[in-house]
Amino acid sequence: MSKPLRVGILGGGQLGRMLLQVAANYPVETFVLEKGASAPAAKLCYHFTDGDIKDYDTVYSFGKSVDVLTIEIEHVNVEALLALEKEGIKIYPTPSALQTIKDKGLQKEFYLSNSIPSPDYVLIQNKEELKKHLSFLPAALKLRSGGYDGKGVEIIRTENDLPKAFDAPCVLEKLVDIEKEISVIVAKNDAGQTAVYPPVEMVFDPRYNLVDSLLSPARLTDTQSSAAQKIALQVVEALGSSGIFAVEMFLDKTGDILVNETAPRAHNSGHQSIEGNYTSQYDMQMRVLQNLPLGNTAIILPSLMLNLIGEEGHSGSVFYSGLNETMQIENVYVHLYGKTETKPGRKMGHVTILGNDVPELNTKAEMVKKNLKVISHS
Ligand code: ADP
Repeated sequence: MSKPLRVGILGGGQLGRMLLQVAANYPVETFVLEKGASAPAAKLCYHFTDGDIKDYDTVYSFGKSVDVLTIEIEHVNVEALLALEKEGIKIYPTPSALQTIKDKGLQKEFYLSNSIPSPDYVLIQNKEELKKHLSFLPAALKLRSGGYDGKGVEIIRTENDLPKAFDAPCVLEKLVDIEKEISVIVAKNDAGQTAVYPPVEMVFDPRYNLVDSLLSPARLTDTQSSAAQKIALQVVEALGSSGIFAVEMFLDKTGDILVNETAPRAHNSGHQSIEGNYTSQYDMQMRVLQNLPLGNTAIILPSLMLNLIGEEGHSGSVFYSGLNETMQIENVYVHLYGKTETKPGRKMGHVTILGNDVPELNTKAEMVKKNLKVISHS
C-alpha cells in the first residue's frame, strides 16, 4: 500500500475546517499550522502545529514535513513558500501567484498587463500623494496589503473625504457604478484541467449596506454569466497556478464586467457549493491537491447562503439559540465553525438554504434569520 499523501494547510480557520471535512474521504494525512489550539481546524486534522503562519522559520519547517501545501488565508510567509517550492514541495497556489495577489498594487498591474478588465487605478505611496490625484475622484482607496473583509478600503468621493484616507501605499481605484457584485470560483489541477462554477451574487442589506447573503446562481443573463466565467478563467490561466480561486467581479450599470479582486483559495462565496453544487469548492481543492480529475460544478438546486454572525451586545462563551426551530425548515443546512467565543460581528458559522426559486429562498432565509441567533451564555 502506498503511503498517504501528507497535506499541509496554512491557517486553521473555518475554510481549513471545511477542507478537512472533505479530506477525510481521501488517502491523505492532514497537517495544520495555526496559532492557538482552539482554532476551528485544530480538532479535525491528524497533526496540529501551534505556530505563526507569518513567520519564515515556522512555515519553512512545517512545509518540510509535508508533500503538498495549501492555504486557507493569504497572509502567510511567502518567502518560506518560495524556498520550499525550490526544494520540491508542491504548493497550491504557487508562491508567485500568491505574491501577485497579496499586494493589491501588483494584482492591479497583473490585470492590466494581461488585458483583464478591471477598474482604472493609480498607485500612491501615501496620503500626501493622494492630494495630487483629486481629479481621479470619486475612487475606492485600498491598502496594498493587509486589508480583508472591506477593512482596508475607504471610499473617497471628494476632497472632503481626505481625512479618512490611509497614509500608506495604496491603490486608488475608479469608483464603479455597481449594479451587482458577483463571484466565480475556478479550480485548476496540474494536469491542466480547469473547472468553473456558475457565478454567485452577493446580496446587500440596504439598511446597513453590508453583504447579507449570497445567491447561487447569480441573477444574470446567460451572456453576462458566461462572460463572467470567461474572465474568471482568464485570470486563473494568466496566474499560471494550479489551485482554487475566487474571482470577485462587479457588473456595472452599463453592463460591463470588471474584476475587483481574486482570492487564491476557497472563499466565502463558495460555501453554498457544499450542498448546492455537485462538487463543493472544498472537494475541488482536495482534488487539486492530489492532481485528481476535477468534479462537476453544476448547481443541484438554487441556494442562498447566510453568514452566521455574532449578535450585537453578546461577547463570551457562545450559545446558538433557535437551532431546533431552524433545522425544522426543509433543506436548511447549518454549519457551525466550532469557535468557543462569540463577539459582535464575528463569523461563527453559515447556513445554506436550498430551494426551487428566489422567493422560496427568501422566505426560508427570513425564517432562519428570525430564529437563529449567535449569542453568549448570560
Ligand atoms: P476586501 O479585499 O477587503 O474584501 P474589496 O476590494 O473587495 O475589499 O472591497 C470591499 C468593497 O468595497 C467591495 O465589495 C465593494 O462593495 C466596494 N468597492 C471596492 N472597490 C470598489 C470600486 N472600485 N468601486 C465601487 N465600490 C468598490
